[in-house]
Amino acid sequence: MRAVVLRQFGPPENMTLEDVPVPKPRPGEALLRVGAVSVDLYQTVLRRGGAVHVELPRIMGNGIAGKVVELAPDANGIALGQRVVVCNNVSCGDCRYCRSGRDTLCVDRKIVGGQRDGGYAEFVAVPARDCVVLPDSVSFEDACLIPNTIGPVVKACSHGARIRPAENAVIVGAAGGMGIHAVQAARVCGARVIAATRTARNEDAVRAAGADVIVTTSEGGWAEQVRRHTGGWGAEVVLDFVATQETLQASLAALGPGGRLVIMGYFPRGSVFETPTWAFSEERTVTGNRSAGRRDVEDALALIRDGRIKALVHKSYPLHAAVQAQRAFEAREIVGRAVLVP
Ligand SMILES: [Zn+2]
Repeated sequence: MRAVVLRQFGPPENMTLEDVPVPKPRPGEALLRVGAVSVDLYQTVLRRGGAVHVELPRIMGNGIAGKVVELAPDANGIALGQRVVVCNNVSCGDCRYCRSGRDTLCVDRKIVGGQRDGGYAEFVAVPARDCVVLPDSVSFEDACLIPNTIGPVVKACSHGARIRPAENAVIVGAAGGMGIHAVQAARVCGARVIAATRTARNEDAVRAAGADVIVTTSEGGWAEQVRRHTGGWGAEVVLDFVATQETLQASLAALGPGGRLVIMGYFPRGSVFETPTWAFSEERTVTGNRSAGRRDVEDALALIRDGRIKALVHKSYPLHAAVQAQRAFEAREIVGRAVLVP
């Protein structure tokens, strides 16, 4: 089969299209014919090296939707011919976190396309219990955005931020692939959405996604703008998808008494939080949200099926154009997400 293989960390050109054997599913696993795979930050961070622990060579790609073409013994819960989306977190199912439903914290967690081969390929083998069956109305292209993008933002809005109706939710990085879907997810939770974007370039798309107010972060002082738009109080919720030292400090400043900050990016270097009297004296909460568990994938799928969240697929590329797709992603040419269709 054809697959995009990373043999050395570095620029997009280090990914090569190769002929490799079709993977053999092990007990409990299914073989999928890949229908679509998303192109996003985890993959480009992994490809550059240093931040994600993986061994090379590796077939890239997570955020996979496809069709079940083979089932190994003990592969239960799905049937041949079914269309499925794959949870990225391959969890053990037995540790204290898995048993309490927090599979994203599994002590033996393996990421598809990271610690095991992924979906930049015609076929991929994955554990059957990490597959969620798709309704006919949801395409592979839309579904592949769930594991890395729509599932995590649904989780962040509902569980991390616990958004309640009519609360003000600030989405920092609202024009990015995560952020523009978070605008929609926050609206589903009933929030009044304040979108914080670096420039006005994608303002129309952010507004179309459901933002009520837009503030521009490159002008500085945007936390003050948030306060002005919230009657001087600050927001009840901030979701920071950029998570640099600068945005995190502004995110805290934009947070009102009792507010909740959810960190959705990589931690910056340097100190962000000094003496946290802001947490104690006005009962603020800071939490993190690293990825979607199976339950979040199921929730996100239901929201897409019911038309309450729209998967924003900007462009589809063939498998051999993986290099161009990642280049376009890193050049910020993509509004929403790009996908590969092997
Ligand atoms: Zn576990």
